[in-house]
Amino acid sequence: MKTIDLRSDTVTRPTQAMRDVMARAEVGDDVFGDDPTVNALQEKTAALVGMEAAIFLPSGTQSNLCALMAHCGRGDEYIVGQNAHTYKYEGGGAAVLGSIQPQPIENASDGTIPLEKIRAAVKPDDAHFAVTRLIALENTIGGMVIPQAYVAEVAQFARASNLALHLDGARLFNAVVKSGKTAEELCAPFDSVSVCLSKGLGAPAGSVLCGTKVLIGRAHRIRKMLGGGMRQAGIIAAAGIHALDHHVARLAEDHANAKALADGLNEVASLKVTMPQTNIVLVDVPSAEVRALQTHLAAARVIAIVGPRTRLVTHLDVTREDLMRVVELFRQFFAKRG
Ligand SMILES: *Cc1c(COP(=O)(O)O)cnc(C)c1O
Repeated sequence: MKTIDLRSDTVTRPTQAMRDVMARAEVGDDVFGDDPTVNALQEKTAALVGMEAAIFLPSGTQSNLCALMAHCGRGDEYIVGQNAHTYKYEGGGAAVLGSIQPQPIENASDGTIPLEKIRAAVKPDDAHFAVTRLIALENTIGGMVIPQAYVAEVAQFARASNLALHLDGARLFNAVVKSGKTAEELCAPFDSVSVCLSKGLGAPAGSVLCGTKVLIGRAHRIRKMLGGGMRQAGIIAAAGIHALDHHVARLAEDHANAKALADGLNEVASLKVTMPQTNIVLVDVPSAEVRALQTHLAAARVIAIVGPRTRLVTHLDVTREDLMRVVELFRQFFAKRG
């Protein structure tokens, strides 16, 4: 029986075609800037998002941290959503390693951070306060595409307030496919963007940070300091190029699969399902059933992090048939419980 892993879109494994380009990749020492495949990936990604320069990093966490540290100095502050990955899921790196104070703000239900709350959080020029330098947004966030009109308003405010604007675009291409806008359009209001290649795009590792030449120059030094300077990294960069060439348009399949999964689960009376915009399905499971459900799924080789709010993520390695099997397992489980 096939194992179906719905914990995250990070679990995707490289396809044979991806492994083939990795095996053939031309490489050099990227710390010296000599790796032609890394350079090609950086140029390609920068062009896709309409920015001057880019730098390849081992992870999205390090990419965001490099961006924050390139924008902010010690004792500076960045404004960020309470649910944002950079704030909540990166071990507090901005504070620990960057000496940057986060100013978290409660996200609205659509994933945005309301502009009036951002405005109220910017500190006046006064010795009591940290210096506010940056606003960081995330798209998609919790699988939701944030409205571009909102992004434009925040960008206008940032510019008027002399603040930089960073996008954690780990799943930028899910937003691209869902919105029908280009990556360049979605990124135009930002000073920097971090894109993950190892989520739904299916590369084994790697993220790319894009911005101005000056910002990326600073990020280069910071990457070295954080231990992210890799040598013959072209082998993984080749996977990233392959992912950008072949795995972007197909994200639409993941979105359609998530919708089909949500529709199926929605017929189970005990569950409350939030209809997905992209590849993340949120399901409210009665607390008393959480452990038994996890065991029931695991016995049928379905791996999911089951909780009162269960997040199921579709990706390259799960098919429509797999998901129909998952729906059937949920149905069986709750039928028995009556
Ligand atoms: C996964 C993710 C990251 C971090 O990527 P890693 O490669 O796991 O470090 C950053 N931001 C968001 C929104 C993510 O989903």
